[in-house]
Formats: sequence, structure tokens, C-alpha cells
Amino acid sequence: MNAIQKLSAHLPTLSCEYFPPRTPAGWGTLYATLATAHETGLDFVSVTYGAGGSTRQKTVSLVERIQSELNIDTMAHLTCAGHSRAELETILDELQASGIPAVMALRGDPPRGSHDFVQHPDGFRHASELIDFIQRHYDFKIGCACYPEGHPESANVQQDVYYLKLKQDCGADFAVTQLFFDNDDFFRFHDAARRAGVTIPIIAGLMPVTSVAQLGRFQSLCGCSIPAKLTTSLPPDSPEAVIEQGILYGLAQAEGLLNGGVDGIHLYTLNKSHSSAAIIAGLRANGRLESRD
Ligand SMILES: Cc1cc2nc3c(=O)[nH]c(=O)nc-3n(C[C@H](O)[C@H](O)[C@H](O)COP(=O)(O)OP(=O)(O)OC[C@H]3O[C@@H](n4cnc5c(N)ncnc54)[C@H](O)[C@@H]3O)c2cc1C
Repeated sequence: MNAIQKLSAHLPTLSCEYFPPRTPAGWGTLYATLATAHETGLDFVSVTYGAGGSTRQKTVSLVERIQSELNIDTMAHLTCAGHSRAELETILDELQASGIPAVMALRGDPPRGSHDFVQHPDGFRHASELIDFIQRHYDFKIGCACYPEGHPESANVQQDVYYLKLKQDCGADFAVTQLFFDNDDFFRFHDAARRAGVTIPIIAGLMPVTSVAQLGRFQSLCGCSIPAKLTTSLPPDSPEAVIEQGILYGLAQAEGLLNGGVDGIHLYTLNKSHSSAAIIAGLRANGRLESRD
């Protein structure tokens, strides 16, 4: 059963996200990580797209390689940022010719240091426009982003619910959330989205904590809140113990979400295998991924 069939059958999916490495050594680490991930039986993997189109060829090559060599359904992220409609079309044509089944259609972030997204003169302003374009011209399954605690540019979470519904109406088949550390934030957003008519699966994005510094970076980058129970559980003087605590926290979070009927778990791996593999092993050992009940 592939990921879309699983989501349709109300069985939770399991997926991991990677980014194209910047160095040759990074590629070696990534392939080792992917080999481990393959053994854990993922439903799909996704590969990010660098800010402003900076990883264009790397993202396309990596998804093609994962799909053909590891035979895992692979989703390519694609952003409006920095691209004309014609350039996006060229990338989408290449992905389709390579048999990539899914695209995560995103707007992309504003340039570093700026609060305002810059639309390409011949491009798209919002993810919903890219989704609409892909839906009208291609056969991909289309993923989109959503934000349980609100996108940093949004006035409130209700605005994010509204635009998630618009993305669904434009053709998105499923959504993946920004990372969050408090399941209550996810369930509040999920329930508000369902009340607003969002029916597509909403997959929860989780990031296993691997260092205290990293946690602070992500908080300032995406505005996620950090519950006191997480910060107080992280030992200040033992990097190894932080990693182990991050696994326990991520596993408990994933189990809580699965108990609450989440459509899927998507792990932001940061290209490291240890924590994600440990969380997946924990979920499998507890029988949490086989059925929803
Ligand atoms: C799961 C996930 C994966 C990601 N992967 C990548 C990646 O690979 N590469 C990358 O560069 N970035 C990635 N991002 C980050 C993403 O590009 C940023 O969060 C970006 O700022 C918003 O992208 P979006 O697709 O949600 O944009 P949009 O849906 O366009 O939303 C952006 C803002 O505009 C508002 N809005 C949306 N539609 C409209 C509209 N029609 N009219 C007016 N306002 C609107 C929204 O409320 C929000 O505040 C990812 C984010 C997530 C959650």
C-alpha cells in the first residue's frame, strides 16, 4: 500500500525529511542515513528545496536517486521563491519524467534579513497559486505546508486555517505541519481546520531535539513555542543525554498524536539517522504504526 492509499484508508503514514547536503562528506552521511531509513519501512521521504531555489539541481538529482535506487516514494519540495513560471515548469517536467509521485508546493521564505517575500515578476505570490498551477497541468500528488501555531507572517492561527482551506480548494492532497513541541497546539489547529471544511490529511511534522542550541535556533526561525516540560528535561551538561531525552520526548509526542488519530508522522531528520530511527523503532515496537485503533 503506498502513502496515498494508506492515508485514504485512514492508516497513519510515516515519513522523513532530508535536505541536499552542501559538502561531499555530507552526501556520504546522507546516503548512510537513507539506507538506515529504508530499513525502517518508511511510506515516503521528502527532500527540501533551498531558499530562493539555491538547491534546484541537487534537490531534483537527490529525489530521482532515492526514488530509483531505494525505491521509496519520494516527494520533492518546490518553492515559488526566485522562480518564474517557466522555470517552475521546467523543474516540474523533469520531476514528472523521472516518475516522482509527489511535490510539496511552497511559497518559500523572504530573503534573509527581510520580512517581505519577493515575488518573481513572472512567478507566483503564494503557495496556493503554485498548487493550482500544478493541479491543472500535472499528475503529482500535491503536499502543502500548514502551521499549528500560526505562520510568522500571519495575524492569527485562524488566518492559517483559512489559507489551508484555500490550498485544499486549489488542489492540495495533504498537508504537513511546521514542527511543534506541544500536541495541544496540533489538535487545536487540526480541529479548527476540520470545522472550517479542511478534509485532506494533516500530517504532523516532528523534530527530534538533538541539542539545546538547535532548539533555540528553531524557536527563533519558525516561532514554535517550547514547553517547560521539554526544556527542564534537557540536561545542560551532557550532549548525549540531550539526544536520548530528545528521542524520548519525540516518541511520547508521536504516540500521543497517534492515540489522538493523527493522519501521519513526518520526522524532520536534519539528515541524522540516530534519533529518527530510534523513534521509528519505538513506535514499531509499541505497535503504534500498524493501525489507528
Ligand atoms: C512542511 C514544511 C516544509 C517546508 N519546506 C521548505 C523547503 O523545502 N524550502 C523552503 O525554502 N521553505 C520550506 N518551508 C518553509 C516555507 O517556505 C515558509 O514557511 C514560507 O514562509 C511559507 O510557505 P507557504 O508555502 O506556507 O506559503 P503560503 O501558503 O503562501 O503562506 C505564506 C503567508 O501568506 C499567507 N497567505 C497564504 N495564502 C495567501 C493568499 N492567497 N493571500 C494572502 N495571504 C496568504 C499565509 O497565512 C502565510 O502567512 C517549509 C515549511 C513547512 C511547514
